[in-house]
Amino acid sequence: MISYARAREILTRVAGERGAWGSETVTLDQAMGRILAQDLASPESVPSFDNSAMDGFAVNSMDTFSASPATPLVLNVRGCIAAGETPIRGEFPQGAFDTFEIMTGAPMPFSESAKKWDAVIKIEEVEVTRDREGNAKSIVLRRAVRPSENVRFLGTDFKRGNPLAQKGHVITAESIMALATLGVVKFSVLRRPKVVFLSTGRELVDSNTADLKPGFIRNSSAPFIAAALKSFGVDAKFLGVIADDASEFERALDQALAEKPDVILTTGAVSMGKFDFVAQVLEKKGAQTFFHKVNIRPGKPILFARFGETSFFGVPGNPVSTAVGLRFFVIPFLRDLMGVGKEPALMARLDRAVKKPQGLECFYKARLWVSSDKGQQGQLRVKILSGQESFMVSPLLEANAWAVLPEQRDALKEGELIEVLPLGATLSEGVVIL
Ligand code: AMP
Ligand code: MG
Repeated sequence: MISYARAREILTRVAGERGAWGSETVTLDQAMGRILAQDLASPESVPSFDNSAMDGFAVNSMDTFSASPATPLVLNVRGCIAAGETPIRGEFPQGAFDTFEIMTGAPMPFSESAKKWDAVIKIEEVEVTRDREGNAKSIVLRRAVRPSENVRFLGTDFKRGNPLAQKGHVITAESIMALATLGVVKFSVLRRPKVVFLSTGRELVDSNTADLKPGFIRNSSAPFIAAALKSFGVDAKFLGVIADDASEFERALDQALAEKPDVILTTGAVSMGKFDFVAQVLEKKGAQTFFHKVNIRPGKPILFARFGETSFFGVPGNPVSTAVGLRFFVIPFLRDLMGVGKEPALMARLDRAVKKPQGLECFYKARLWVSSDKGQQGQLRVKILSGQESFMVSPLLEANAWAVLPEQRDALKEGELIEVLPLGATLSEGVVIL
């Protein structure tokens, strides 16, 4: 039997043999969660014009340096500029002390002369005299306005030609905000991996079955796999349930291969039981099997094979074994295939001592939190939940992470640092959802 570390090496090598991953062009509304396949540079400068950061009055700061409570300055208002208006070009008559009323986001008035409107004073800071229609006529200023005060200058947010985002960047809603600002609405992203999956087990009935007959169980893994792959941005297709019959499985495998997926995933029938036929059928069909059984718990009988361009994972049927197979084998393999790099490791301190079987790397249902206790403030802590058996699904409602316990150890002490992985796989870097 091989170690988990060795299994990971094999997965990475096999993924590497697939060669470059494809890309496709998407528009901004399709881009959420996708991974950039190209570097992006800013096509424009933003703001694209100098504009006001406040509702107030545009002034020439030089005019105002003498203004103080004791020596108030009166400025004549030449007009009003709203957001959405084209910039007003106004010459400064020699010696004129004047101003424009201006709204947030409205373009600053500009002048060809050396003297310019270069600052905005907030409306709350001046006394305004208005005519009957409400148009400002003059203001009284009781302090000097600093150059650039309350002005958002051209190019302060984005500069044309500057790098925006690199290949490998995961598009978030916030990235979409930035790209929309710049009108970058079409770009190249990595194509989605395609996974087809099927369940084996004649005891399985659909999860919407109301009355379970004795001996039957609901298929919980198929809805889980569909949801988990969807949240990881995978194009996933369920091919249904196969009764425990090798020839039926063989037909389903042909159907799966015809879909030309990147990965076929099957649950169940990889252990040592009489009806565990997956390994034999793969052999018969000429698959190249890389490993069958890894020193892990749960999920030990996991199998990894390849049919040409299509990789095959057979994970054991207990739902938690299936979840471990997906999180610790399939997802890392998909990352390798896409060339997006390994998931960043997170470390947390055990909240109490724990015993484990030596010789098996254990992936345990766990709960992570950031401590606020004295002496541990800000520390990431982890609790191993009770109910680690691979059929025990109920702890998953409390879990938010997997705790990884090293193969060689048989016990770990309270406070020891261990590796943890958030439950849900996401492509974003280092995101922990607590
Ligand atoms: P197997 O790996 O086929 O021997 O299945 C191991 C255990 O997992 C058995 O108790 C099965 O009934 C159960 N099991 C198999 N497939 C599923 C499934 N899709 N959903 C829930 N339980 C399953
Ligand atoms: Mg079975």
